[in-house]
Amino acid sequence: MENHVEPLGKVRTKIVATVGPASRDPEMLRRLADAGVDVFRLNFSHGTHEQHAVTYEAICEVNRILGRRIAILQDLCGPKIRLGPIVDDVVSCDLDAEFTLWKQLDQRDDPRKLTCTYDELADDLEVGQSILFADGAVAMDVIERRPGWARLKVTLPGRIRSNQGINVPGAALSVSALTDKDLADLEWTVGREVSYVGLSFVRQAADVTRLRAELDARGCCARIVAKIEKPQAVANLESIVAEADAVMVARGDLGVEIDVAKVPGVQKQIIDACHLSGIPVITATQMLNSMESSNRPTRAEATDVFNAVLDGTDAVMLSGETAIGAYPVEAVSTMSQIAHEAENLMFAQSRPGAPWFRSASWPEGARDDEGRPNVARAGRVLPITEAVVEAASQVSHRLNAALLVVATHSGRTALALSKQRGATRILALTDAVEVAHAMALYWGVTPLHIPDLFDAGQVLAFADQWCRGRDLIDTGDRLVVVRGVLPNNPNHNAILVHEVE
Ligand code: PEP
Repeated sequence: MENHVEPLGKVRTKIVATVGPASRDPEMLRRLADAGVDVFRLNFSHGTHEQHAVTYEAICEVNRILGRRIAILQDLCGPKIRLGPIVDDVVSCDLDAEFTLWKQLDQRDDPRKLTCTYDELADDLEVGQSILFADGAVAMDVIERRPGWARLKVTLPGRIRSNQGINVPGAALSVSALTDKDLADLEWTVGREVSYVGLSFVRQAADVTRLRAELDARGCCARIVAKIEKPQAVANLESIVAEADAVMVARGDLGVEIDVAKVPGVQKQIIDACHLSGIPVITATQMLNSMESSNRPTRAEATDVFNAVLDGTDAVMLSGETAIGAYPVEAVSTMSQIAHEAENLMFAQSRPGAPWFRSASWPEGARDDEGRPNVARAGRVLPITEAVVEAASQVSHRLNAALLVVATHSGRTALALSKQRGATRILALTDAVEVAHAMALYWGVTPLHIPDLFDAGQVLAFADQWCRGRDLIDTGDRLVVVRGVLPNNPNHNAILVHEVE
């Protein structure tokens, strides 16, 4: 088994790449993996179960061939409202022109009579509200509402097409975060090695809880990525983060649902919240947008990726760039290079054990009895483990260690180490294959699946041998091992320092 990427990854920041027509060919998936992809995203807003199944098998094969643990993120469509069919497929919306939105239409004879995939929308609207079409390219105000239909007036002219997305910023729609389609898509998940399921248009923590119950009922151990793309989710951020396993700053819809000028600030707020709660966060959408059709990014895009890493994101995501773009491999390697540069700057500026990005503070009520932030269920580690992890990060910095090694059943200790944002790379050994895949999203962590977890000495011997076999260590280098040593004790309570002979 040959590993084409650098064994510990070139960058610590993880790269999520969306698979689509431009990238689902097995050879292309392999090239993307080589370029540095850590997580492949299957977007269930598009494609059939059969297409996703073929892609899934191809990704598993790439993992087998390359000896990698690339994770799969199944991104559910959620209650994305879309336009119904429009007569002649497209219609111009002139300023002040009037349209009607109908719950049901018996006859489609007028392109100004619209329907949408959410039947109740016309009844849920209120006079004065704005409706945005096609990611905000066209806007209309509601000027009249009657049972079964609403009258709209164009305030931002443009053209709309059948099946384009609709956003109603700030509206408290009665639509559920999990649709019938999502539930059918979860049947696809059963029996597959899906590490993360993305929940779209989350508004409250209960949405996450509901998905968890649906996953449990199907025997799926996938972790939940709560996508923050509604103002209600921003308002309920603290409780959503506490319930989720990971979070995505879903800037595409977020930038339509809230004022786009507020998106950079909200991105920082979400990333800070995830750090405080100890869970991974993905920054997504339009990161290298121009690379859909160009082999180089704009300066603004390069700066955006760079700044997201400085903000403290765990992962950066490519959407159309890898799904439908002309330069998918170039987009991944460009993202990797930019993240690498950002990390270099970050290490030049930050102090170990006191991550500079921990600037946010929870309200008083969100603290536990010991005054610590109420860490998310997914990010929670025992207090002894937490202290040992902090100390291990300091030790590895002081000794300029070549590697931090952790043996972990659940991946939580690896995640806690990752959240220290030290420069030392983390090799995380686990006996659970699903945990190895999930850890692919953890910043700075290289996951390895080892069927048996050993005692501290064996972990050290394994790491020493593994690193020597890949020319990663030399005489005099130091390895720092974090491990529990007391039998029947769940704490990671020991730090072992090894100098390579
Ligand atoms: C987003 O809106 O930024 C996003 C990632 O969601 P989707 O691509 O599923 O609309």
